[in-house]
Amino acid sequence: MSLAKRVQSLTPSSTLAITSKAKALKADGHDVIGLGAGEPDFNTPKYILEAAKTAMDEGKTKYTPAGGLVELKDAIIEKFKHDQNLDFNRDEVIVTTGAKHALYTLFQVLLNKDDEVIIPIPYWVSYPEQVKLSEGVPVYIKAQESNQFKITPEQLEASITDRTKAFVINSPSNPTGVLYSEEELRALGEVAVKHNIWIVSDEIYEKLIYGGKQHQSIAASTKEIKDKTIIINGVSKSHSMTGWRIGYAAGNSEVIKAMSNLVSHATSNPTSIAQHAAIAAYTHGEEEIERMNKAFEERLHKLYNWIVEIPNVTCVKPDGAFYLFPNVKQVVENSPFKTTDEWVAKLLEEEKVALVPGSGFGAEDNIRLSYANSLDQLEEAAKRIKKFVETHT
Ligand code: PLP
Repeated sequence: MSLAKRVQSLTPSSTLAITSKAKALKADGHDVIGLGAGEPDFNTPKYILEAAKTAMDEGKTKYTPAGGLVELKDAIIEKFKHDQNLDFNRDEVIVTTGAKHALYTLFQVLLNKDDEVIIPIPYWVSYPEQVKLSEGVPVYIKAQESNQFKITPEQLEASITDRTKAFVINSPSNPTGVLYSEEELRALGEVAVKHNIWIVSDEIYEKLIYGGKQHQSIAASTKEIKDKTIIINGVSKSHSMTGWRIGYAAGNSEVIKAMSNLVSHATSNPTSIAQHAAIAAYTHGEEEIERMNKAFEERLHKLYNWIVEIPNVTCVKPDGAFYLFPNVKQVVENSPFKTTDEWVAKLLEEEKVALVPGSGFGAEDNIRLSYANSLDQLEEAAKRIKKFVETHT
């Protein structure tokens, strides 16, 4: 079949692929432990469910403005002010069908053919594909593991060309969980301002930070940096609302207007009921978020200790999100398997532990483990991984 060129090289999301493979094995009766999930394992907090039910009962089930309800935009604006001391107007915010859709729409409105977008490795799987779908060219910078998986301003500057349109920063990061400091963000932002490129700041894991550290948006560094930044965020990870599909973008009003025009022809508004639920998420206190974070933090420390105990495994300790990104180069080299992908596939086959190979994130030597699972399951998974390593060394 002659499908359009733009989809011919498109690879399915590796994170979704592993999750569905694990689900299929589970359905066949296997005792599979899934560490592949990119979503919190908690139910959506009750007050949010109630708000959605009320919205349905009150008939709030019709089209809304394509770019989102004014009440939700106001709640998002209030959140930016409260959490990050950032000021936005309504025409600088768009509500989208998840943060993924905000990013997709953003690249669609920013990029012309062959425009370059700088993406640090390891990257979230969808950035390069989305850039390519917009006819752009992903340009990669390898964030060194020895530098806590963070890129430096020198690296950023060295990869800017006259075709560079934007660079993507994701802090805390999926898959590494690392968090950039205020100074590091400012230094990167200054490079972007100097070269007049857009900063795409994906802050979807903003609320998932541990050890008393604070999230900082790159946009909060200086006014000049804010003017060049489009912030991407949403309620999926913070409020355990992955299935509701509410995300948003905030920044330059012309960019936001173009995005609103585009979605008005593509999806129209995100689900009205989910928008009402998101208003509740943002106008309620944060006790539920804190409760989920406490559980994640405990799991992080425990799983980290279990994983680094495995011979030849090293791991940068994350500050946020709910992933570990251990380096298994030595483990794979000492095993009969040729690649990390093969090693991961065998681990699922033999020990029934599903995790994601680093290749999908541009990092062949690593694996991604999600700790959005119970402590019991995490402990059992770590034991199985250890056994697998010992069996195949
Ligand atoms: N950005 C990153 C880094 C993510 O990990 C994800 C989800 O996995 C998203 C964006 C998309 O989130 P949403 O569910 O809001 O589309």
